[in-house]
Amino acid sequence: MLDIIQEQRDFFNTNESKNTDFRIANLKKLKQLLKDNEDALYDAIYKDFGKSRFETYLSELILTYQEINTFIKHLKQWSRRESVPTNLANFPSRSYIIPEPLGSVLVIGAWNYPYYLSLVPAISALAAGNTVILKPSELPNESASVMAKIINENFPKSYFHVLEGGVEQTTELLKHKFDKIFFTGSSQVGKIIYKAAAEHLTPVTLELGGKSPTIVLADCNIKMTAKRIVWAKYLNAGQTCVAPDYILVEKSIENEFLSEVKKEITENYPMRNDISDNYLRIINDKNFDRLKSLLDTDKIFLGGETNAKNRFISPTVLKDVTFSDKVMEEEIFGPILPVISFTDLDVAIRQIKQMSKPLSFYVFTKNKKKINKLFKEVSFGGGAVNDAIMHLTNGELPFGGVGLSGMGNYHGEAGFKSFSHYKSVLHKSSWFEAPIKYTPYSKWKMKILKLLLE
Ligand code: NAD
Repeated sequence: MLDIIQEQRDFFNTNESKNTDFRIANLKKLKQLLKDNEDALYDAIYKDFGKSRFETYLSELILTYQEINTFIKHLKQWSRRESVPTNLANFPSRSYIIPEPLGSVLVIGAWNYPYYLSLVPAISALAAGNTVILKPSELPNESASVMAKIINENFPKSYFHVLEGGVEQTTELLKHKFDKIFFTGSSQVGKIIYKAAAEHLTPVTLELGGKSPTIVLADCNIKMTAKRIVWAKYLNAGQTCVAPDYILVEKSIENEFLSEVKKEITENYPMRNDISDNYLRIINDKNFDRLKSLLDTDKIFLGGETNAKNRFISPTVLKDVTFSDKVMEEEIFGPILPVISFTDLDVAIRQIKQMSKPLSFYVFTKNKKKINKLFKEVSFGGGAVNDAIMHLTNGELPFGGVGLSGMGNYHGEAGFKSFSHYKSVLHKSSWFEAPIKYTPYSKWKMKILKLLLE
């Protein structure tokens, strides 16, 4: 392990990875390798948790390819030095900012989108000119292995390498110095990463989780709202960090909303224990048991079907939920959707603000005033109006959390910046020097300073 870290450091010091043509060539190579190995990627993730080819392509590979395309297109421009104006006190001179890669980077991935959440941060780091050690989550072990095989057989380990492993290996890795750590996972482990990074004063990006609220107001298009929420919630069987965690619906439309949700689910999802290309299994027994314990309630409106043998939990909706119910204590991260009704928007806002700052926030309404009010009052990582999840597909929008849901962001240029340092340079000419800052200090110098600079 130490060898690889040292080799990466040595390679970085050759300056080769700073060459923009080198970066572009390697990104193109990675894209081609992923495309050539798509079958193996599909097979592995299916073995891990029954994710179909279509859903893997839709929610992992398209976004990964698009991110590579964006970097190939823009990285030369984003790597250029940028000239900025210079203040009068420095006349005559120029000022500019030079982007530079941070160095040797550690990327730690989460399990729920094993390809996308590991590869996109790694791609951003490579695009910015860094070397990368990628530690994918060990839970989808087939997916982690296939990524390791594709990458380790085709890239020098001094440049880009996958290290498989769980807590023990990650703990060991974290003892060493990196120039940046990018972590995706739970807030609980995020704190461990942050502490370990602090030992070396290593900068971190922490992409964490939390309970993402979804507000449904009476004036929304109810049918469309139900359709979009159901898709966003049950994609990946609810194992999505930006899934609507719970719904706050205006009382006057609660019944109509619930009946549209029911229609949408029963028409499009398996309600019994079948393996389907449209619906996944829960990742492991531990998560299955945790989710099952949340179903121990008389508030099931729809679903609640489980099968331990293949870790199946049907799309489930809970009704008449309150903020003191167990399901509201922590991020659900599974196919269970609690619905809470409200009559006073201010009370709903207060309740949201009593919880920790969420990764995502969704509002379904046509009322601009209410949208503005909600966005002014609630702090959240990112979100959408009249949709859920889809904001992260727009590479122009920086993606990340705030407070307990994370720090820093990525996607597109935000990802490039996240793995770059910006060197500020004042570049002076030597043909002239104003005497004013030098001793002996005097009253007239003070007067001129006041006249020119206040
Ligand atoms: P996790 O925190 O359990 O694991 C994430 C990574 O940390 C894995 O690679 C794991 O091997 C490693 N790890 C686990 N325990 C560790 C320890 N004690 N010391 C060092 N490393 C350790 O998270 P998870 O279960 O993989 O993912 C679920 C969580 O991640 C949810 O909270 C979800 O909301 C969040 N998440 C956030 C995003 C985002 O983009 N913000 C995306 C996906 C998931």
